[in-house]
Amino acid sequence: KTFDDLNVDPIIINNVKKCGYIEPTPVQKQAVPIMLEGRNLLACAPTGSGKTAAFLIPILHDLKGPRKEGFRALVLCPTRELAKQTQRECIRLSEGKGFHVHVISKINKALIQYGPNSSQKFDILITTPNRVCFLLKQDQAALSLANIKWLVIDEADKLFETGNRGFREQLDQILNACTNKEKKVAMFSATYTPMVAKWCVHNMKGLVRITV
Ligand code: AMP
Repeated sequence: KTFDDLNVDPIIINNVKKCGYIEPTPVQKQAVPIMLEGRNLLACAPTGSGKTAAFLIPILHDLKGPRKEGFRALVLCPTRELAKQTQRECIRLSEGKGFHVHVISKINKALIQYGPNSSQKFDILITTPNRVCFLLKQDQAALSLANIKWLVIDEADKLFETGNRGFREQLDQILNACTNKEKKVAMFSATYTPMVAKWCVHNMKGLVRITV
């Protein structure tokens, strides 16, 4: 299977090729068609496997039609550094699509930008669960996730680690704020830990699991 066989918007495939990617990696070959079908996905794939493009390609393809309030896709990362890195890849892969791709770098600025008085509409938010929950806890909803169509949880095993106590509660809070009934979840994890398995079984209906 080549990138051209994936049935993805040619603008995005062209961007993929401009990145120097010649052939899809195994996780890309498997994950892209599943996400294009609109199914919940759990992919066990290590860093370095091309997992970032594996979820970005179908999401970028899927974002069409007019924007609504807030964001249309949310990518949760364990660290801000990873969020920045993912944003860079997202900008490269979406060149020419005119998407708004944000990371929350400063909370105060975010309150003005994404808050209830903002009439702006955005596409993709890439950030950490802490930052999302901080904004959701503000008096008035400072961040609208009502129109989220895709929620991605990247490096889920790291997020569920004990060093990040409370992540489960944060994730449940975020999922509750994503009220769009059509929303889909894509989880990427290097390992299939019991915590990851338990959360997925509870929250991701009809999920497809792949391992690379
Ligand atoms: P990731 O697993 O997302 O951290 O990606 C690891 C590295 O592989 C990144 O530097 C990507 O730019 C690169 N990469 C992603 N997809 C491909 C591909 N299809 N061919 C070659 N390199 C890729």
